[in-house]
Amino acid sequence: MGENRITVQRFVEKKEEGLYLAVPFAMPEEVESFRISYAYDRTAAVIDIGLNDSRGAFTGWAGSDRAQLTVSEVNSSPGFKTGVIQSGTWEILLGAYHVPDAGVLVTCTVELVKKHIRLLRGDVHMHSVASDGALTGRELRETAISQGLDFIAITDHNNYFYIGHTVSDDTLTVIPGVEWTHYKGHMGLLGSARPFTGFTANSDAQMRAVLAEAKKNGAVLSINHPFCPNCGWHFGFDIPFDMVEIWNGGLSPKANLACVSWWDGLLQEGRRVPVVGGSDFHRFQFGHIPAFPCTFAYAKSRSAADILAALRSGSGFVAISPEGPTIALDTAGYPVYPGETLAPGTQVNVTLTGTRAGDQIRLVVNGEETVHPGAQPDTRIQLRMPERGYARLEVVRQIPALGLSVPVMISNPLYVGESL
Ligand SMILES: [Zn+2]
Ligand SMILES: [Zn+2]
Repeated sequence: MGENRITVQRFVEKKEEGLYLAVPFAMPEEVESFRISYAYDRTAAVIDIGLNDSRGAFTGWAGSDRAQLTVSEVNSSPGFKTGVIQSGTWEILLGAYHVPDAGVLVTCTVELVKKHIRLLRGDVHMHSVASDGALTGRELRETAISQGLDFIAITDHNNYFYIGHTVSDDTLTVIPGVEWTHYKGHMGLLGSARPFTGFTANSDAQMRAVLAEAKKNGAVLSINHPFCPNCGWHFGFDIPFDMVEIWNGGLSPKANLACVSWWDGLLQEGRRVPVVGGSDFHRFQFGHIPAFPCTFAYAKSRSAADILAALRSGSGFVAISPEGPTIALDTAGYPVYPGETLAPGTQVNVTLTGTRAGDQIRLVVNGEETVHPGAQPDTRIQLRMPERGYARLEVVRQIPALGLSVPVMISNPLYVGESL
């Protein structure tokens, strides 16, 4: 997974005792985290350590009893800044507290973890006690971790003040979120801690102003449950949205299928519309649980920004639970991801895991369906990209309790050529 090591040394002379010494090193592009360890003769000297980033900004400091530190987009060591790691010249700061007469050699080792695509599981639509949910942020977090999720967004109705002590760490990425909730529709605003200054909108123009402000503040806009019979989207779709919640855990299968059908119509018109799922979890009642459905993202790091970038580009799929079914694609052994644009005629190998006997694999190419039988536990099929348009996959399962065959996995499409 793309690990690199940089070693830099600094000989500290006795005359430098009491000074702060900068030791530069080159930070490459696309680093998601790095660990610095430093070694010197600790029986003879005391050397503190700190860090400046590529803009010269202070990034953290520790006393000499810390032999190593980690800086990460998601969760840095205590005392060090968490955030995007910019490329350029960084500086390790050595604090020369005590230096022996003979001086001391300090060896710093920087181990870089480069960004690399990995499959992450999450849920970007759930409610807490800050609106009409029953669980605190902390309880939602514990539930998500117990389900093996990698990311969540707690999206309370028109409310971004409460996070319930829920912050990102190495186990779970918490994406800031709000469900903008209006009597004419609900919109997930993801990735911005303060997407709007006020949520009210008493006209079409005010609705557009709220959404424009959210976008300006960095939010990704996801139309939630657009075909919900009670709280569907009634502003029309001529608005700047980034993606659609194709599958809402609280809705009937038929309401979700209406959304799939509408979405496929957009794809047939040449639109590129990424889709996500959302449990819309409020409480453990009527069989509702978080991550039902589960949104899967092929993201290049665990940062909220990279997860949202993956969702916005359609690099993922939605499945009935964190166990899948999951989908992996390759062309001649090279991975490709949903949302990508491929050349006409490209052969794509599709590997599905978590399928069951009786499942059907539905391949939809420009609105035309082809059905392949599934197998247990894995299924491999091939698809050939058309001359234009898109290809997408569903896994369809008979649910006896419902008397229905419903999708248990819906992939984002692969595209050919340019979007309209
Ligand atoms: Zn809603
Ligand atoms: Zn909701």
